Amino acid sequence: MRILVLIAIGLLLYIIISNLLRKNRSSPNVVTEKMVKCGHCGIHIPKKEAVHAGDDFYCSQAHLDDHRQVN
Ligand SMILES: [Zn+2]
Repeated sequence: MRILVLIAIGLLLYIIISNLLRKNRSSPNVVTEKMVKCGHCGIHIPKKEAVHAGDDFYCSQAHLDDHRQVN
């Protein structure tokens, strides 16, 4: 009889933990955020934080300026 109680508790914990994990996984703007690559140094930054010129993205205004001077 005791083993049934343990199984029931284990099952309950499993359900609670898997619910928590699912909730964390579906939290917004962490996983779904689109990353872009800086055209100057190659670092990856979130698209909304990137500086963009035409089709190119840069991590900062300074790198956009540097890249324009090189070309
Ligand atoms: Zn950069």
